[in-house]
Amino acid sequence: MALITKKIKGTEDVLPKESYRWQFIENVMREESGKFGFKEIRTPVFEHTELFARGVGQTTDVVQKEMYTFDTKGGESVTLRPEGTAGAARAVLEHALENEGLPIKASYFVSCYRYEKPQAGRLREFHQFGLEEYGTQSPVADAELICAAQSIFDRLQIQQLRLEINSIGCPECRAEYHKALKEYFEGYKDELCDTCLSRLEKNPMRILDCKSPICSKIAEGAPKITDYLCEECEEHFKSVQRYLDSAGVKYTVNPTIVRGLDYYTKTVFEFVTDCIGAQGTVCGGGRYDGLIEELGGKHLPSLGFAMGLERLLMVMDKQGIEIPDFSECNLYIATMGESAKEKAFELAMTLRESSMTVETDVVGRGLRAQMKYADKIGAKYSMVLGDNELEQKKAVIKNMNSGKQTTVRLDENFLEDFIIMETTDEDSSDIALGLQKDE
Ligand code: ATP
Ligand code: MG
Repeated sequence: MALITKKIKGTEDVLPKESYRWQFIENVMREESGKFGFKEIRTPVFEHTELFARGVGQTTDVVQKEMYTFDTKGGESVTLRPEGTAGAARAVLEHALENEGLPIKASYFVSCYRYEKPQAGRLREFHQFGLEEYGTQSPVADAELICAAQSIFDRLQIQQLRLEINSIGCPECRAEYHKALKEYFEGYKDELCDTCLSRLEKNPMRILDCKSPICSKIAEGAPKITDYLCEECEEHFKSVQRYLDSAGVKYTVNPTIVRGLDYYTKTVFEFVTDCIGAQGTVCGGGRYDGLIEELGGKHLPSLGFAMGLERLLMVMDKQGIEIPDFSECNLYIATMGESAKEKAFELAMTLRESSMTVETDVVGRGLRAQMKYADKIGAKYSMVLGDNELEQKKAVIKNMNSGKQTTVRLDENFLEDFIIMETTDEDSSDIALGLQKDE
């Protein structure tokens, strides 16, 4: 039979057997960001196109080349979100959250859509976790934001992730810098790619972010923004570094980082790894003091970051970091005969009410096939119910790993017997098997 269609190029399915990996990292992100006071915001997957055009910036690659934009039946132009910041900022403004006290701290999990060339670490639908903070100019907020990202990576035990930071100044100090950049790049007009030639007029800093090898080679010799910072930006940047130092967060200053959004100001940062090939940026963020005004709000200095979940999982995979699977089946109840089936159905419900994962045959298989299934799903214990067991109101529970057997009562004592069996079994195996328990 031929499938009528397959998944769209650049998209991925997360299958039941691997979703625990996503849930694990998502939980860590929720917990760690929660410690810093961030609460989740959920916004629509599509927005009016102008939100991204303004919020992400007309001269960015994302807006110029990568957006999934279409007209609705009502004739409106809408776009699938290419990132999470613009939608969160729009929601904050629309609900006037600034009136409820500052700063506003929001976290998000979003699927993003960018029409890019699919390759390892670069998809057309991908997922981000991000933090947004509105209503603070203070360098403490910048440092805290970076610390929040760092603590997520620490909890996930990720190694060899470099934190690179930079300051790209404010509109005032940047005017000088743009002039210097223009002068420099004008000397390479014949070599720059077409996109960069147009950037030269509109936003020369974008050239520093170009992925073409020729442009990035030329960019290496360009004037550095850090030499053009005004006093305030310079002091802000130094202060961020002092806070990072006091938190023991290691970083390097990389003056070539400019980030892909147009409205970044002052602090920008990236967490980069070399272990997953060319697409090594796992997390990017910084300050965007002009964004809220750009979207029609009042001046509300803001900052945030986004991390790519697919890339993060690739890093963990590459580094052999084991992710615990909490979805393990506590008990598989195999049945022989209709009455046993009914009893198993009832017992399974009893254990589930006490938060245990229990499965029983729902296919109508023979005993051998049921046991094979129990093995396949990695059930910790199994129990066989037949006429004999029902008659005696007792059954044997088997530890699928050690083979150890324990008899339990099938009456109102079943739950208690099961719990006692499980705890004593765990205790004794702790002593007998030592560390093997975690294997
Ligand atoms: P890159 O330089 O890799 O294109 P970017 O600057 O476009 O990244 P951001 O817009 O800052 O990326 O997005 C934040 C994070 O989202 C990235 O650091 C990366 O981990 C992830 N990401 C971005 N684009 C993709 C994509 N097409 N596929 C998978 N993950 C992505
Ligand atoms: Mg990109």
